[in-house]
Amino acid sequence: MEDKIKEISRRILESKKVVAFTGAGISAESGIPTFRGQGGIWEKYSPAIYGNLPGLALTFLIRPKKLLRFVTEVYETFSAAQPNPAHLALGRLEQRDRLSSVITQNIDNLQERGGSRNVIKLHGDLYRLRCLKCQAQRPLDPTNFGLVLQELNSTQPGRLSMIRKIREAIPRCLDCGGGMRPDIVFFGEGLPQDEWLRAQSEAQSCDLMLVIGTSSLVYPAASIPHLAKSNGATIVEITHEKSSISFFADYILLGNAGDLLPPIVEAVERGLPK
Ligand code: NAD
Repeated sequence: MEDKIKEISRRILESKKVVAFTGAGISAESGIPTFRGQGGIWEKYSPAIYGNLPGLALTFLIRPKKLLRFVTEVYETFSAAQPNPAHLALGRLEQRDRLSSVITQNIDNLQERGGSRNVIKLHGDLYRLRCLKCQAQRPLDPTNFGLVLQELNSTQPGRLSMIRKIREAIPRCLDCGGGMRPDIVFFGEGLPQDEWLRAQSEAQSCDLMLVIGTSSLVYPAASIPHLAKSNGATIVEITHEKSSISFFADYILLGNAGDLLPPIVEAVERGLPK
């Protein structure tokens, strides 16, 4: 493993442009379960219902308390998470001018909080809201939202009163007064166009891509490493278990991203001109 780490760090130092592509696995060590893995959210809440807006709207009408439990669980899990050594290592690599961007499928904000500046978010951001009417965006105030959830959870009204209370709690657009939704990409929705174009351009122009913690099953995002490979980039995969990317990856490191990325970045730092 040590030899592989040395070789990968050398390849990073030789590269003109390095890009990282991350998935849920990079945040697992921060306490956010991968959705598909054991103990993941989709074991308790079916993605066919809770992974799309029509399913969520129906649950709101039929089982509002269950919807509230789901939203509370998601926000509590994400709010408790802190950047882990893998996020921090990518942040450092960018600050040392050895990483151009992080293309992430995650919605948790941990890449930025770990020090990354150029983050391309293919699946949106849980801490951003988007107006259902005029598409205006604004950040979600997590403290305020936590208090709203606390208040909703402290009462035990009947179904209809619960529906009314949740409806009253939905944040409103400051421009047009429309209801606001989380600015994330649910199943069946298209990717944000600007982000998608930027991600494609980064994948086409990099000569090394670090692919970290993704099963690479969610398309079109999962096509990004293929695009990099077909344009000649070296692919370094860091994961717990092999994925479809492993068929063409040049290096595969199996283990925790939080254990494997820091020594790679430290070796890069040692190799930089003083
Ligand atoms: P996935 O759950 O399909 O796959 C996660 C991959 O990470 C697996 O291959 C697993 O082997 C690997 N892994 C698990 N722990 C790891 C670790 N500590 N170090 C290295 N690798 C590890 O994730 P995906 O491919 O990103 O697809 C899930 C979709 O769900 C994404 O599109 C994302 O939008 C969303 N999601 C986001 C978050 C988040 O924001 N943190 C969490 C769960 C799901």
